[in-house]
Amino acid sequence: ERRAALAASTGPGATSDGHKVPLLANVGGPADVPAAVEAGAEGVGLFRTEFLFLDDSTKAPSEEKQVEAYRAVLEAFPEGRVVVRVLDAGADKPLDFLTPGDEPNPALGVRGLRSLLEHPDVLRTQLTALAKAAEGLPVYLEVMAPMVADRIDAKAFADACREAGLQAKFGAMVEIPSAALRARSILQEVEFLSLGTNDLAQYAFAADRQVGAVSRLQDPWQPALLDLVALSAEAASAEGKSCGVCGEAASDPLLACVLTGLGVTSLSMGAASIPYVRATLGKYTLAQCERAASAARAADSAEEARKAAQAVLSGE
Ligand code: PEP
Ligand code: MG
Repeated sequence: ERRAALAASTGPGATSDGHKVPLLANVGGPADVPAAVEAGAEGVGLFRTEFLFLDDSTKAPSEEKQVEAYRAVLEAFPEGRVVVRVLDAGADKPLDFLTPGDEPNPALGVRGLRSLLEHPDVLRTQLTALAKAAEGLPVYLEVMAPMVADRIDAKAFADACREAGLQAKFGAMVEIPSAALRARSILQEVEFLSLGTNDLAQYAFAADRQVGAVSRLQDPWQPALLDLVALSAEAASAEGKSCGVCGEAASDPLLACVLTGLGVTSLSMGAASIPYVRATLGKYTLAQCERAASAARAADSAEEARKAAQAVLSGE
């Protein structure tokens, strides 16, 4: 039955009553594109550009090398959306030439957008390479910054994009609770939000994502995390803008329904999860997803939230 459901699962992501939720792929570079296309991804919701920087941790790759890699991904989704995340270095992804080696708490230090603002040349080269890679292609390019904390960060990023002459939508990742709490203020500077639920959970629960002993707190079903998702999605809706999810949470089919019910407008995940999420989402109406979301938020633990959503969706 499962196999039949998956085989029947093609086309754009939508609830059973036709509420569209584009299903996008998380990719790390051109090598991940064939699987994304095969799974029927409607575009890329998170292009992690770190891979390009891993070969040589002492300096940034040349503009030419970057143009080539970005173009290979952009070309694969003609007419589709491709959301590129600028370099997210530091903490769990350190780079010698960017990451300070002497921080007592690297996850709370100079990482993500913070390191790019300290090295504007690296950001400028990346944005210029993206502008060149997108030239002449019909793709809808969106560029977002990791680890945006507030409106000042969002403005600094949008200014850098404009200065590089980038013809694209500029967005902010919501990975820090302050950004979820003040999402409307951030949306005065950027055109879309994308929730990085892995880091958002890490920072909301003060639970290092690399420490197995605190993994209970990293569970994306945590009602407090769902509250932060809801705040962000409501802010985006009030501003007439989009709010996707690109963290691991989007790849859990049941949770994908809950996120949809919370008002999230697109879901991005590893390609392998797309058919499962598409099949599950297609079984329920938007109203059912909304009821499952309310039930999950009313719970007091991740486990209860999961059970409550399951009960609503299975009609118990
Ligand atoms: C996240 O934090 O949820 C995210 C998508 O970014 P990364 O996992 O690359 O930090
Ligand atoms: Mg992150």
